[in-house]
Amino acid sequence: MSTKLKVSVYKLSSCAGCQLEFLNLEPVLLDLVGAIEFSYFPMARRRYEPGPYDIGFVEGAVTCGEEIERLKKARQECRILVALGSCACYGGLPSIKNWTPERVIVSRVYENSSLIHSIKAYGIDEYVQVDAYLKGCPVNKDELVEFIKGTLLGIRPRLRPHSVCVECKLNEYECISVIKREPCMGPVTTAGCGALCPSRGKACDGCRGPANDANAESLARTFSEYGLHRSDIVRRFRKFAGLTQEFSRGADAV
Ligand code: SF4
Ligand code: SF4
Ligand code: SF4
Repeated sequence: MSTKLKVSVYKLSSCAGCQLEFLNLEPVLLDLVGAIEFSYFPMARRRYEPGPYDIGFVEGAVTCGEEIERLKKARQECRILVALGSCACYGGLPSIKNWTPERVIVSRVYENSSLIHSIKAYGIDEYVQVDAYLKGCPVNKDELVEFIKGTLLGIRPRLRPHSVCVECKLNEYECISVIKREPCMGPVTTAGCGALCPSRGKACDGCRGPANDANAESLARTFSEYGLHRSDIVRRFRKFAGLTQEFSRGADAV
């Protein structure tokens, strides 16, 4: 009998960018080939082996009843269930639609909306228990590798409660907010990406969701002082994780 970890990868409503990060790990995965096997990964393999699986990665937000059923089945099949990327963690980009009536959204895309049974977009823990969250849009490759290796060794992944600003300072990047007065979400966004956007001279968009103790109200007021219109501020807090309490407070503060 195989002693390899059996891994499955599921897709709900998403752009498949987080699964692509898996495929981009190819050199690392080749190192791990003796230790894990992708038993169910439709994007990468035509054949699959039935569950149960040791780890199941779920990409995407839940946006229809059929996905709720698929998600519950995935939960039953997997010993460890992981939310892969911000869509699965928080609803992500699909959740932008939650603040517009469903019929308006559907009619913008489909001529015949009678066949569409879309619901509000949620992260997967709205419906099932989740064992681990890998945040980011897309998910961070180093965190993904760290998680897989940690699971193989029976080690809990590191928690990163601090904000992107801490990573920015540690790397000695110029603060875009201070120098250019650009609205950067770094002070309230959870770390783990190595301050990727500020490293390229761009403000953080908040794709990894809220950091612990995020003072989103204060940041929203700062954006207001920078001259941002209320609708722009709200849009920033609702882009990736608008359903979280922390970012909701930011959107409601102005
Ligand atoms: S988190 Fe971003 S990259 Fe990943 S599936 Fe969602 S939209 Fe795509
Ligand atoms: S650029 Fe953004 S993330 Fe970096 S220190 Fe300034 S506010 Fe924080
Ligand atoms: S800097 Fe912000 S938007 Fe950019 S990858 Fe990191 S968390 Fe996401």
